[in-house]
Amino acid sequence: MSDCFFCKIAKGEVPTNTVYEDDDFRVILDIAPANPGHCLIIPKKHSANIYETDDEVLAKAMVLAKKMAVKVKKATGCDGVNIMQNNEEAAGQTVFHFHMHIIPRYDGDKALSYKTMKQTDEEFAEMRQKITAL
Ligand code: 5GP
Ligand code: ZN
Repeated sequence: MSDCFFCKIAKGEVPTNTVYEDDDFRVILDIAPANPGHCLIIPKKHSANIYETDDEVLAKAMVLAKKMAVKVKKATGCDGVNIMQNNEEAAGQTVFHFHMHIIPRYDGDKALSYKTMKQTDEEFAEMRQKITAL
């Protein structure tokens, strides 16, 4: 993907605030953080989203997410950490090269929030059947 900006970032072809790098990943500070210390875990191998990403890369990404969450918590003194990963525009994805967000959180900071809804027992049962049938 020669025109993918995160491929260029992952390969180190553009300047970033890199906080970790190994053979498979680069971790950078997000340019527009939800809180200071917000990091992005970017695989060096291109895939657009989680559906397209190799299981091996995903497994390594999750282990790295734990490592980075511990580092970010120690570095920032935050009260909690969100690990977020968006797939497709409807879910808030804006960069179409798979990445994971590590977001430091503080008690009551409201940096991320979503409205919840109520569902009936019938609706839960119908959804359970739909998903388990696949
Ligand atoms: P998404 O919304 O796709 O899950 O997340 C994309 C993230 O990449 C956003 O949080 C955005 O601020 C960050 N981002 C986009 N372009 C750049 C960039 O050039 N440098 C850095 N460090 N972060 C970027
Ligand atoms: Zn890419």
